[in-house]
Amino acid sequence: MTAPRTLFDRIWQSHVVVDRGDGYHLLYVDRHLMHDGSGPGFAQLRERGLRVRRPELALATPDHYTSTAARTLDAIPDPQHRGHVEQMRENTREAGIERFFFIDDARQGIAHVVSPEQGLTQPGITLVCGDSHTATHGALGALAFGIGASEVTHVMATQCLWQRKPRAMRISVDGALGEGVGAKDVVLAIIARIGAAGGVGHVIEYAGSTIRGLSIEGRLTVCNMSIEAGARAGMVAPDDTTYAYLHGRPLAPSGADWERALARWRALPTDADAAFDREVSLDATRIEPMLTWGTSPEDAIAITDRVPEPSTAPDATKREAMRLSLEYMGLVPGTPMTEVAVDRVFIGSCTNSRIEDLRSAAAVVRGRKAVVPAWVVPGSGLVKRQAEAEGLHQVFREAGLEWREPGCSMCVGMNGDTGLPGQRIASTSNRNFMGRQGRGVRTHLLSPAMAAAAAVTGRFTDVRRLAAQGA
Ligand code: SF4
Repeated sequence: MTAPRTLFDRIWQSHVVVDRGDGYHLLYVDRHLMHDGSGPGFAQLRERGLRVRRPELALATPDHYTSTAARTLDAIPDPQHRGHVEQMRENTREAGIERFFFIDDARQGIAHVVSPEQGLTQPGITLVCGDSHTATHGALGALAFGIGASEVTHVMATQCLWQRKPRAMRISVDGALGEGVGAKDVVLAIIARIGAAGGVGHVIEYAGSTIRGLSIEGRLTVCNMSIEAGARAGMVAPDDTTYAYLHGRPLAPSGADWERALARWRALPTDADAAFDREVSLDATRIEPMLTWGTSPEDAIAITDRVPEPSTAPDATKREAMRLSLEYMGLVPGTPMTEVAVDRVFIGSCTNSRIEDLRSAAAVVRGRKAVVPAWVVPGSGLVKRQAEAEGLHQVFREAGLEWREPGCSMCVGMNGDTGLPGQRIASTSNRNFMGRQGRGVRTHLLSPAMAAAAAVTGRFTDVRRLAAQGA
């Protein structure tokens, strides 16, 4: 009889090519996502006279540098950035990568939105990308993690990667979510609980009735922010929700292959008596709509809370960090979060730019008017098309929000979509670090519904209050 195993163990063990005996394993990589920051990897291959070993296992799409004003190269203002996007055509052509979605392709978008949407992300696979938020793909039961520039080159050349095996952590969330509370609130509550370093050295499996009850879009949001808790990866065991999501997607198995894949996928979930190195549990019924007050994703509190007092911090180091954070954020301890005014709103990023996110934001702004500038940036051309088919773009436009083209946009502002120094931005993205959305910009992370509520009130607002009022 074999020992009980976790989902993570199963995927890891089935991908080991070489066990070096010192904790490091050479892993086989099933899928490699490339974006407009992958250029150095191609350049290094060329220098060394190497080729991409398995181009059929790659998917490439520009996202960080693309313009959200128009889907053209000319719309990218910085010539160097334009060059990165343009160079992708040459790099992928030379490498024989056929799954390349350029800016004139409706399938282009943020790599972490595009790959699940196409059905390329599947249960049981290993997937890497030269981007921190690759953990997103764990939502479909994959082992997915971000890699550095030299690792990108290694994967391109060999389709393998040396990795030290992380430990396993399970975070169980149980209970029904309240009105106005969604996946973003769940993951912010998790990070507030375990801290920005709480997952260091671990792969997190998210489990429990609340996680099982989330759609794939919701699970993608939760797994996306695993890295913000310091984890190497985050995953959710595949189930009927996963299979229903994947069935019929362009790159998912079909016909007899689908049945064979289903049989494999159903054998993946963690055994009932498998052990984890660390277990954490949360009661979902106690989670309220959340938002961050500081410059780390762990600085998350409920909308009903007040800006915290540094004097309540457990030690001097933490007190000083809080003081600096509050100074940067321009917040006074003790202020109710609902009294904090916002200057701008950004609804987008690989955390929250999928159709379900846009629906929840549209439901809040429908029949209301934005009182501060607000952008809605769909995660891909296909999300945009779907939203337009449902008339969501009209809802946003009638409410005065800007309906943009797909891309990373203000999540990181590499394409020039940044705020101004001192501006306070309600953002559905995943990082609130100092300067993340532009020099001196103050970022508050929250859900699409909460961001929409901020757009129509001009301050942080409990979305449950707006829902009670009706439009
Ligand atoms: S949306 Fe933000 S976090 Fe996601 S890939 Fe783009 S820059 Fe990275």
